Amino acid sequence: MSSQPHIVLPWVVHRTRLPLLSWRCVDCPSESATTGAGRFRVNANGKLLDVWLLVRCVRCDRTSKLTVYERTPVSSFDPVELHGYHVNDSRLVASTLLDPALARRNRFALDWTDAWRLDAPPTPLDEAWPVRVEVAFRDPVPVRPDRLVARGLGLSRPEVQRRVKCDVPMRRSRIAGFTFTLMSVR
Ligand SMILES: [Zn+2]
Repeated sequence: MSSQPHIVLPWVVHRTRLPLLSWRCVDCPSESATTGAGRFRVNANGKLLDVWLLVRCVRCDRTSKLTVYERTPVSSFDPVELHGYHVNDSRLVASTLLDPALARRNRFALDWTDAWRLDAPPTPLDEAWPVRVEVAFRDPVPVRPDRLVARGLGLSRPEVQRRVKCDVPMRRSRIAGFTFTLMSVR
């Protein structure tokens, strides 16, 4: 008898929009901010540049500036990147916001609620057990494997614990791919 899975299914985690920021507003009780469409501000001071990413409170619209670069020599910027800051390039907005260094420097966390999607083909439930699933991350959306697997398979978390063998710790959020094997019910 072989224990090799007969079926391998690909799952993909995608970002569907930019996440919000957990960010305490100084003017109102809100703790949530958004980049909206995404806007940078670039300020030149001699040969030094400051670059900020602007975010606004979701409740009162107060704008705050997140430091991207501080007093940085113009000559050290890639011209394409610098142009991107000037024209509010949406891909540059996304990569800037999702860079963990920005969150550390500006003391916020990303709120991924409803900002991502799992694409999972239907799991054939009555044949060819066990099933192996390979989970890939198209974007760095932090998810707990146990919650993702429960959602993707429509199982309760106790069922996931009983029936799923995973190659990584299931209760620790991650943004890197992993695989798991779903065992049949016995
Ligand atoms: Zn506010």
